[in-house]
Amino acid sequence: MSFEELVTRWDNFLSKLKDRFHEVLNQAEEPLNEVINNLQYDNIIIHNIKTGLHNQTVMQLMEKAEQGWDKMDSEMMKFGKIFWGQKSDQHRKLDDFREWLNTEFFKFEIDIYAKAARKILDNVKKHIDESKLHRCTQCGAELPINVYSFVALNMKCESCGSVNTYQPDDRIRALEYYVINNLAEEYAMDAKIKAKYDNNAQKEYYTMYYTYLMENVPDKKDFYKRDMDERVNNPFFSNVSF
Ligand SMILES: [Zn+2]
Repeated sequence: MSFEELVTRWDNFLSKLKDRFHEVLNQAEEPLNEVINNLQYDNIIIHNIKTGLHNQTVMQLMEKAEQGWDKMDSEMMKFGKIFWGQKSDQHRKLDDFREWLNTEFFKFEIDIYAKAARKILDNVKKHIDESKLHRCTQCGAELPINVYSFVALNMKCESCGSVNTYQPDDRIRALEYYVINNLAEEYAMDAKIKAKYDNNAQKEYYTMYYTYLMENVPDKKDFYKRDMDERVNNPFFSNVSF
C-alpha cells in the first residue's frame, strides 16, 4: 500500500464514522418524535434519551476514531521516515472529526430540546385559563399581569383597591426552565457554535440568549440584564463550553 492509499483509507474510515453518526440519529428520530408528542410539562425523559444517544454517537465513535488513529499511526511508521508535517496533517483529521462530532451533536441536542419546549408550551396553553388566572379575586376585574409571569406579585386592583397575591402556577414556573430557556438556546445556537473559535462571538451569544429571555420573561428583565452584563463584561469568560 502506498502512503496515498493509506491516507485514503484513513479518510474513508472517518467518513464512515460520520455516516454511522447520522444513521444512529436517523434511527432515533421516529421514536424520539413519539416521546416528544407524549410530553406533558417537563422534559426529563429527553435528558435520559439524550445521554443514551450521546454515548452511542459521540463517545463510541470517538473511541473508534482513536483506535483507528492508533492503527494509522503504526501503518505510517512502516514508511520509515515520514515528515512530521505529514503525520500532523493526518492527526488533524482526528481533531477535526472530534470537533465535527461535538458540534453536530450540540445542534441535535438544541433541536430536540426546542421541539420538546414547543410541545410543553402547547400543553400549558391548552390547560391554562388565562382569563381566570389574572382576575381580581374580589371583584373580577382584570389585573395587569403578563400571561407568563414567573414571579409572585402583590398587586392592587385598580377597580376595588383590594390587594391580590399572584402566584404563578407550577406549570407556568416550569415554562421558564423547560421552554423559554431552551428556545433562547435555539435562538442563539449559531453564535454559540461560532464562539468556540471566536471570542467576539461569545458576547454575541450571551447578548442573543439574554435578549430572548428579557423579551419573553418581562417580569425578570432586570435580573437577566444584570446576568447578561456580568457575562458580557467578564474577562474570565474567555471560552464557551459545550
Ligand atoms: Zn378588584
